[in-house]
Amino acid sequence: MAYVISDDCVSCGSCAEECPVEAISEGDGKYVIDADTCIDCGTCEETCPNDAVHPGE
Ligand code: SF4
Repeated sequence: MAYVISDDCVSCGSCAEECPVEAISEGDGKYVIDADTCIDCGTCEETCPNDAVHPGE
């Protein structure tokens, strides 16, 4: 299970800077998390100023 970035993302990039395993990159219109790299630490969820990051299903 990995964290997921919703459409609330405004591509500010805050999460990508804080991710300890560099799992987050800029996608088409929003940032995306590589599920295979994510270690479920939750740092990005705490970092997002727009509450756009949530634990995946
Ligand atoms: Fe990176 Fe942690 Fe967010 Fe996964 S939960 S994308 S490892 S900051």
